[in-house]
Amino acid sequence: MSNSTTPTVGTSEKPANDAPAFVKNDFIRQIVREDLAEGRQSAIRTRFPPEPNGYLHIGHAKAICLDFGVAAEFGGWCNLRLDDTNPAKEDPEYVEAIQDDVRWLGFDWHSLRHASDYFDVLYLAAEKLVKQGDAFICDLSAEEVRAYRGTLTEPGRNSPYRERSAEENMDLFRRMRAGEFADGARTLRAKIDMASGNMNLRDPALYRIKHVEHQNTGDKWPVYPMYDFAHSLSDAIEGVTHSLCTLEFEDHRPLYDWCVDKVDLAHSPELLKPLTDKGFPLEAGKPRQIEFSRLNFNYLVMSKRKLMALVQEHLVDGWDDPRMPTLQGIRRRGYTPSALRLMVDRVGISKQNSLLDISILEGALRDDLDAHAQRRMGVVDPLKLVITNLPEDHEEQLDFHNHPKDESAGTRKVPFAHELWIEREDFAEVPPPGFKRLTVGGDVRLRGAGIAHCDEAVKDADGNVVEIRCTLDLQSRPGMEGANRKVKGTIHWVSAKHAVAAEIRLYDRLFTVADPDEDDASGKTYKDYLNPESRKVVTGYVEPSAAQAAAETGFQFERIGYFVADRYDHTTDKPVFNRSVTLRDTWSK
Ligand code: ATP
Ligand code: MG
Repeated sequence: MSNSTTPTVGTSEKPANDAPAFVKNDFIRQIVREDLAEGRQSAIRTRFPPEPNGYLHIGHAKAICLDFGVAAEFGGWCNLRLDDTNPAKEDPEYVEAIQDDVRWLGFDWHSLRHASDYFDVLYLAAEKLVKQGDAFICDLSAEEVRAYRGTLTEPGRNSPYRERSAEENMDLFRRMRAGEFADGARTLRAKIDMASGNMNLRDPALYRIKHVEHQNTGDKWPVYPMYDFAHSLSDAIEGVTHSLCTLEFEDHRPLYDWCVDKVDLAHSPELLKPLTDKGFPLEAGKPRQIEFSRLNFNYLVMSKRKLMALVQEHLVDGWDDPRMPTLQGIRRRGYTPSALRLMVDRVGISKQNSLLDISILEGALRDDLDAHAQRRMGVVDPLKLVITNLPEDHEEQLDFHNHPKDESAGTRKVPFAHELWIEREDFAEVPPPGFKRLTVGGDVRLRGAGIAHCDEAVKDADGNVVEIRCTLDLQSRPGMEGANRKVKGTIHWVSAKHAVAAEIRLYDRLFTVADPDEDDASGKTYKDYLNPESRKVVTGYVEPSAAQAAAETGFQFERIGYFVADRYDHTTDKPVFNRSVTLRDTWSK
């Protein structure tokens, strides 16, 4: 087995039934396997703990796939825990969206929890530390605490309040809890080591005074637990075995372990009484924190703060704008849950933070849609093509396969008639070298309908080509003797009479530079690098069966790209399609 920091994407192992299978084998799954094999754990329990202060983004998808995926693969469970230790307003809008996003990705939680469900237990746990002499009440101001903390190269100094008696500390802590003191007047601090090389162990605060209402607990608490204390003990309360989090918490792990060990919930049923009295199902245990690298892509910004700014400054149309890296945004863009899971599998789990190329994300979407999306024809920049040797009322239904590689996707009827829409760029008056499509005097195959010979390009008064007149070689239609006649190009089309006018939103990357997040010397920020071409709205035409699709149906519009019927705006009368991704990566050139 490779060592624990080696990024391992997966190996192909042959299971007993001889069917090939992809067995994920990253360092976290190796740890989990060993913990089970060696009896350190009898079941695997994880949690996904978002702070409900914004929408989830692509980075969270990695954490979700890992937390829920590991639990499912090893027959365990995963809780969804809303980390609401900040008594800021938890917007029900975020809470709803988080649940929607997790389900959409294909996962379901064992139990929905809030960190605030545990405030009573956390308070009793803090009293236990006070009693044990492991925590003290400190009267230093925030500024003084900073001055005493020392630096990375210099040890800190003990707080002058560090040697208070357990009795005095308990009295003060209870009075803090009773609301006697002003915000910031005192803190409860762990008594660990002011000389520790790890700043997080220099007597970190465990509780602070904040006279603020909490969305779940109202005005019950004038004191609130700090993140490390609340997070480690919430994991222990729920019986989480493997607490998976991102690398920035690596330096917090010693504090996490300290809290878990000193409080020892697994052997302290009296602390859990507030929950057991309420009939709360508990499986308190000793969790283990394991860190993995954050997911970051170029051409994106992924911090909630920056995404919030884009929304609030109306630089995008909201959290679910299809250009946003939020799960709500990319869902609307046409990303599928399976494309995201594929991306997460390809990226793998490691301990190396890196900025990945966006083509990994887009490539996973292309591969997923190539395999699963049905094909349709749609024209985004229409030019009229008239078939002069068919009567004006000519109308027929042609059979088309819905997927070139998947028979089971079936076939559909596509109407064909005297007048068609073709793509403007598929005609050239003066063809550039290598041009294989339509030009006056040339031939092109109309996909599935035979070979057309262009006789004439009709122009308006300004000299713009407004109509192409062609003769269809009736012997070249599929099944006819001339069907195999060689022509250089094939173009797509829709019947002008039958096609449905559609709003087509051509989305592209939101930023023009690979590293919009980088602070640069010129003082520019990510907001200065927004791509003005990131959305173009045009009116095109789609074949009837595309218009009739349900919202959120994804298609490949042949030769154009992958599109999705907009989740909110699409109707069969007024179809709206969003471009999810182009057929090929046009940025890499
Ligand atoms: P942001 O920095 O974008 O605001 P956050 O870390 O504050 O994100 P939380 O809601 O606290 O967001 O995150 C919930 C979980 O998702 C945490 O376990 C966190 O480690 C994980 N997570 C957040 N961002 C990423 C990312 N880019 N890649 C992988 N996991 C992530
Ligand atoms: Mg966070």
